Amino acid sequence: VTATLIDGNALAAGLKLKLADEVAASSKHGRPPSLAAVLIGEEPAAAAYARSQARHAAGVGMEYRLCRLPAECDMTAAAEAIARLNSDAAVDGIMLHLPLPAQLDTFSLQQAVAPRKDVEGIGAANLGLLLMGRDALVPCTAAAAFACLQATGVHLAGREAVVVGRSVIVGKPLAILLLASHATVTQCHTRTRDLAAHTRRAEILCVAAGVPELIGADHVSPGTIVIDVGMHRVSGTGPDGTQQLRTAGDVQLEAVLPVAGAITPVPGGVGPVTVTMLLANTVKAWRQSLRLG
Ligand code: NAP
Repeated sequence: VTATLIDGNALAAGLKLKLADEVAASSKHGRPPSLAAVLIGEEPAAAAYARSQARHAAGVGMEYRLCRLPAECDMTAAAEAIARLNSDAAVDGIMLHLPLPAQLDTFSLQQAVAPRKDVEGIGAANLGLLLMGRDALVPCTAAAAFACLQATGVHLAGREAVVVGRSVIVGKPLAILLLASHATVTQCHTRTRDLAAHTRRAEILCVAAGVPELIGADHVSPGTIVIDVGMHRVSGTGPDGTQQLRTAGDVQLEAVLPVAGAITPVPGGVGPVTVTMLLANTVKAWRQSLRLG
């Protein structure tokens, strides 16, 4: 018996079809949704991510605007760029590519995005609304992990859920989403004593620790649903015996497959759903700005 693979690519494709339909149906009420991405500097990974975002946005009929600023720009220039997008009625969503050059204060710039355009869901207003169980723009990675979990059809009320990681963008909002669905939630972190004792109790195990292959078979009980948020490039030995880079998660996929009930593979699990959640948040912000409900 091996775990069911939760297919993030298929889930993302289905969600994008729904978004494209929604955009096509509602665009008659006005302009199409528009996502503005701020890219400061020449970080190659961020530039590649921006190109991929532009393709995904076009795929659902969304406009995508890349606002580039030079690597040497100061806080005033960066804050002004965000302020201009905040007051631009043709922009629904704003996201900030990371990492920022060292002279810039990431937290301040993220918090400078207007709450109604905060499609990354990481501003204090949206996180506060999420905490209070109100309608909010939810952080994309946490929303993606939760969507992967929901795709299994599991009924969450009363389940033992364990989240490994407590970051603001993944671990904490994911725990809140689970709690809002009436799971009993344990949150683990670097000060947790005996991590495996906690993870073995989990019926739902969500891992966002940022440590390659932290979770092995000994951490997982039979039948557990495992959501692996981790994303790493690690070196390993290829079929021809040479050292090669491969993509790995925070979970040892091969080791956990025979134990878990279902698992998100890496690659092909949470990752492809995350960018879709950015599009979904932008469509939501657009509908709210057009007062489409
Ligand atoms: P992060 O900010 O580094 O947070 C990691 C969290 O895990 C921290 O709360 C840390 O605890 C905890 N942790 C670290 N080592 C641990 C250990 N040995 N045992 C228990 N807890 C441990 O990372 P993040 O931004 O949340 O991202 C987590 C992972 O998701 C990364 O691999 C990242 O690449 C990936 N990611 C994927 C996507 C996607 O779309 N799939 C998007 C974003 C991030 P402390 O708080 O005590 O330090």
